[in-house]
Amino acid sequence: MDEMNLFESVKKNLCSCSADLSLDENVEALLKNPQREISVSIPVRMDNGKIRVFQAFRVQYNDTLGPTKGGIRFHPSETIDTIRGLAALMTWKCSLHNLPLGGSKGGVVCNPRDLSTGERERLSRSYVQVMYPYLGPDRDIPAPDVYTDAQTMAWMMDEYSRIAGKTTFGSFTGKPVSLGGSEGREEATARGGWYVIREALQERGMETGQSTVAIQGFGNVGSHAALLGQEVFGARVVAVSDSTGGIYNPEGLSIRQVLAHKKKSGSVRNFPGASNLTNEELLALPVDILIPAALENAITSSNAKLVRAPIVAEFANGPLSHDADDILFDSGTTVLPDLLANGGGVIVSYFEMVQNFNMDHWDASIVNQRLENKMKDAYQAVSRLAERNNVPLRKAAYTIAVARVVNAMRMRGWA
Ligand code: NAD
Repeated sequence: MDEMNLFESVKKNLCSCSADLSLDENVEALLKNPQREISVSIPVRMDNGKIRVFQAFRVQYNDTLGPTKGGIRFHPSETIDTIRGLAALMTWKCSLHNLPLGGSKGGVVCNPRDLSTGERERLSRSYVQVMYPYLGPDRDIPAPDVYTDAQTMAWMMDEYSRIAGKTTFGSFTGKPVSLGGSEGREEATARGGWYVIREALQERGMETGQSTVAIQGFGNVGSHAALLGQEVFGARVVAVSDSTGGIYNPEGLSIRQVLAHKKKSGSVRNFPGASNLTNEELLALPVDILIPAALENAITSSNAKLVRAPIVAEFANGPLSHDADDILFDSGTTVLPDLLANGGGVIVSYFEMVQNFNMDHWDASIVNQRLENKMKDAYQAVSRLAERNNVPLRKAAYTIAVARVVNAMRMRGWA
């Protein structure tokens, strides 16, 4: 098995609990394959008047529990196989968090930094035009992911609504608050992750306020993880990084100032009072918590032994290769797995759908309280099962998630 292949890794995690759940081979075969994959070429007119064709995907992995749900990425090295892995992961994430949703994911092969705002808008709208028959509030509901944001979702929701002939807020989540978006959605993945970290620390007799943290990735998830970590959970954030490299100050970084510096210079590097370091060096820092919040396979068999943090919280999807996961488990590191730790994004996306369907708008305090309850419930269930069966948290999380889907499949007559 290629340890960097996310889909293979998710399937291996699924198989790891098939004996415990007595899955028969037909059920396993259904769960190891996507229900639907859409692969398209999208022509878009560029600012220079010429047409450029973009490859784009949507994988609707499994809709046993409800309409499928998952982000859309814009990334130059996107592949259908990674999207397949991410869509499978969404299936288990929605199930673990007890949401009435299946799993999906989408992607466009492009580098959004090379596109003007107009080109990104036309690309976003074209994606919806092509995918329209397969999308919708009761079919498949996208959200932001790597290099897409609330503006992207606003364009996509608007295009969907134009084709449908009616404003359909519930067709996309992660929208701006002025367009049916939920309070707290932008920071939800990071906030939810911190609730999980807090639970894990409390079990060890520690508090977030006593902890030191290093965070890889300074986009939506990473920057909110740093800001909330410092300002809400009282942690000392000593290192952060983006695709250009990282910065380190053992006394702690002022995250608001780092955000301003990044906004001005385009990078976190060369921040006054901190030393520059590589992404590899960041992974090896002596901190209490390491948060990979960038892309998949940040930690593989080649660098897993460098990790010194006793807790690794996967805010990104698939940041540990399967081999790295084994190495960290053997070394006694606690890994808070992606489907558990970063479920806050899809949970608040689900809250956004509920608000849209009910023409309602919840205060941030309601959103955060409900998010906290769901994250705590999931952590407690996973932690209890892991302890009872003496297995890693990831295996316990998959066991709960897969069992729920299989049970629903049986009730639907699919198994
Ligand atoms: P984003 O595009 O906002 O940010 C990505 C960040 O990663 C950027 O700071 C970028 O500079 C950095 N980066 C890219 N390549 C890197 C590298 N090689 N080394 C270090 N940093 C690198 O994306 P995001 O929404 O923050 O997503 C980050 C991760 O979290 C992804 O794995 C995504 O699937 C996952 N996730 C996101 C959400 C969400 O709500 N946005 C929800 C759940 C999971």
